This record gives sequence, structure tokens and C-alpha cells, in this order.
Amino acid sequence: MNLLNLVLPLYCARCGRVGSAMCEDCMAKTLREIENCCVVCGNYQAGWRCPECGADDTFAFGFLAQPIGELAARLKLKSARHLARPLARLLAEAMPEIGAGGRGGGGRIAIVPVPTAKSRARERGLDHTRLVAQELARITGGRMCIYLERKNDDLQRGKSKAERKKQSEKMFVAGVGIANVVSFETVILYDDITTTGATLDECTRILREAGAKNVRRVVLAKTV
Ligand SMILES: [Zn+2]
Ligand SMILES: [Zn+2]
Repeated sequence: MNLLNLVLPLYCARCGRVGSAMCEDCMAKTLREIENCCVVCGNYQAGWRCPECGADDTFAFGFLAQPIGELAARLKLKSARHLARPLARLLAEAMPEIGAGGRGGGGRIAIVPVPTAKSRARERGLDHTRLVAQELARITGGRMCIYLERKNDDLQRGKSKAERKKQSEKMFVAGVGIANVVSFETVILYDDITTTGATLDECTRILREAGAKNVRRVVLAKTV
């Protein structure tokens, strides 16, 4: 916990207005600017399925170069923990309907964060995917579940698509308690930034093997 956050007032991350991590005007503006896109090919998509490449059950809020990506990077790289709440709220509002049993359907929702490399989380003093997942759970009435663990701390930056896929296959394992995933009607797998979707696919495979029925993947931003 950063003591400064307790003492200093919060400023809007976009316009600098005092009072909150993001003011209502900027919240509305960010929502208007969103371009939901496919996590694999980057084409525009309105729902959960990409009409272009057929990637299914995924949704990205926008690209890394857009304000949403800049905010995601600030949360992650600058440890701006107060951004977790507005980012989760934006995601919850922009997310396509989950359908019966999901949001609005009263069903049970598990929010599963993609695990962060432990060395990175220690370095930054926060676990950014977990923070947003926690807020997303609060907003959607779901429960955050740590069902995935990271086997090693290898980072994927700068690797080719094939290398990322291969590496992702060895990077994650089922965590303690994952068997309980069957009791949820919907699982929302959350990651902040994606490049090829390889990590999401691997995490989804593990969740489905454990019995997860309806897995939806949501991401704040896609790198171009
Ligand atoms: Zn503002
Ligand atoms: Zn696509």
C-alpha cells in the first residue's frame, strides 16, 4: 500500500481534474472512443466472435496506442493501482452481454486473472491483473478465483507467434481449487494486454480441462 495514496488527492488520469482516478466525463469519453477488436487479428468486432478470423469468446477493449492501452500500461508499468477501479468499470460497461446465466442473468461468475510473473509483481509492488479482476468481480457480482498459476517467470516480449505459443504451453498450470470451476456458469478470464492471444488460449484450455463450461476472455488492450 502506497501511503501517498492515502494522503494525496486523486487526479483524473485523463484530464487531471481532482477528486477521482477517472472523472465521469472522461469515463464517458473513453467509452465513446472504444473500438472493440479481435485479440487475434485486430479487426473490429461487436460481440464475442470475430467475423473476420472466427476467433471466439474473446473481446479486447482497444489497442495499446489508444487511451485505454495507455491507462493499462500505466497501471502495469507505473504501479498506478488507483486505475484498477476505473479500468474494471470501463471493461464491465463495454463488455458484450454474456447471455443467460451471465451478466444480467443472475448466474454465478468466476473472474480468473491471468497470473503475473511473480518477479515482476514483486518488482512493481502490485499484481495488476489481480487488482482489476478483483474490481471486475465486485462490479459484476462475481467472484475472483485464482485458478491458474505460473510455472516459470519467462517473459514473452519480443518473441514470434510460434515461440509464444510454444512457451505458453509450458507457462501455466492448474491452481489449487480449480476443480470448483464447475460450479460457475460463466468464467471470465482476464488479461490486461495481449499480442497474439496465445496466453489466453492456453489458460482457456486448462480451465476447460478442469470442467469450465462457458469461458469468455476479456482484455484491455491488444498490441498492434
Ligand atoms: Zn477527467
Ligand atoms: Zn479476428
